[in-house]
Amino acid sequence: MSYPVHKSDAEWRAELGEEQYSVLREAATERPWTGELLDEERSGVYHCAACDAELFKSGTKFDSGCGWPSFYESVRPEAVELIEDRTLGMVRTEVRCANCGSHLGHVFPDGFGTPTGDRYCMNSIALGFTPES
Ligand SMILES: [Zn+2]
Repeated sequence: MSYPVHKSDAEWRAELGEEQYSVLREAATERPWTGELLDEERSGVYHCAACDAELFKSGTKFDSGCGWPSFYESVRPEAVELIEDRTLGMVRTEVRCANCGSHLGHVFPDGFGTPTGDRYCMNSIALGFTPES
């Protein structure tokens, strides 16, 4: 899969902090309850921390109790890429930024009580937030 934004590992390493690099480019998972955006409640737009593409709107964020920022749908279906992930002995669906291929988190079909029933469980460090002005 080739993405509109393509950079070498060395370029990503130089641009992203060490922690961001390990999540976005190596699919690490940040510790739960540590993310800055977990309790963000303002209106605005969440974007990819690597390439700035818009990913989620604040209106679809919900309190899932899982310790990571959770959304029930992406800003547009084509904003994210969904990939079957069979690591760690589980079958999960990985969520990547469709614009740069960076790892964002996983989506689970357990967004109980939300309009879609989906829970996009995102690493806070993989996202940036722009409040509505
Ligand atoms: Zn991106």
